[in-house]
Amino acid sequence: MAGLNIENLTKRFDDVEVLKGVSLDVADGEFVSLVGPSGCGKSTLLRIIAGLEEQTSGDIKIADRSVAGLRAADRNLSMVFQSYALYPHLSVAENIAVPLRMRRLTATQRLPLVGRLMPGARIQADTISQDILTAAERLEIAHLLDRKPGQLSGGQRQRVALGRALVRDPAAFLLDEPLSNLDAKLRVQTRVEIAQLHRSLNATFIYVTHDQVEAMTMSDRIAVMMGGRILQCDTPEAVYDDPDTIEVAEFIGSPK
Ligand code: ADP
Ligand code: MG
Repeated sequence: MAGLNIENLTKRFDDVEVLKGVSLDVADGEFVSLVGPSGCGKSTLLRIIAGLEEQTSGDIKIADRSVAGLRAADRNLSMVFQSYALYPHLSVAENIAVPLRMRRLTATQRLPLVGRLMPGARIQADTISQDILTAAERLEIAHLLDRKPGQLSGGQRQRVALGRALVRDPAAFLLDEPLSNLDAKLRVQTRVEIAQLHRSLNATFIYVTHDQVEAMTMSDRIAVMMGGRILQCDTPEAVYDDPDTIEVAEFIGSPK
């Protein structure tokens, strides 16, 4: 696991500046939630950290090394999306195995594999490695390894997405509203499990949510983002009891 340093990131889509100089240091093993209203730039920030989108300016360091020019597959970060982004034609085991297969390949070898991952094709299901089994057991989905995503409940799909994030032993986890497609009961249960996962792995997490309660209960620190800027980043208690600005107070729901 490793710490992350985000240094003065900006991002422009055409004429619109979506990130206006975002800096954030996340310590090794820390759980930082990123909260803020819809459209404030949370997903864009996470996608840039993951290497799925390029910043306009600024730098990102993982374990004190700049990742400038490193493609997503080479940053050793695990991203979990709201949509889970599972391959419908692959089994649970094959879905969890995807990052392992990607990592073993060089950039040129990766290209044809990406083609084969498109619907209609499938990865040959070879022996399920111990890593996949361990991740699946940890998330209590080992009995589902042969199923396809379409045969799973929303909560089970969410676990597969987490299993795929876990199996690559990443430097850090990036989660983008991973619980927002779950019903209220499952959301609470999965929130507790993610917190346990964080504790037992001692892993670095950046966790995007628009749910203040989630952020308050799970995080070491909360970064409150608005209009492409982080307005405050502090412990849940400090953000709630001592908000820096009216905007933060209103978003977090602090007493005025
Ligand atoms: P959040 O995740 O906080 O809801 P996003 O990062 O998804 O916010 O979006 C921030 C802003 O950037 C929004 O105004 C959105 O419309 C814009 N945006 C995001 N991605 C693109 C894109 N690929 N092209 C143009 N605008 C985009
Ligand atoms: Mg978003």
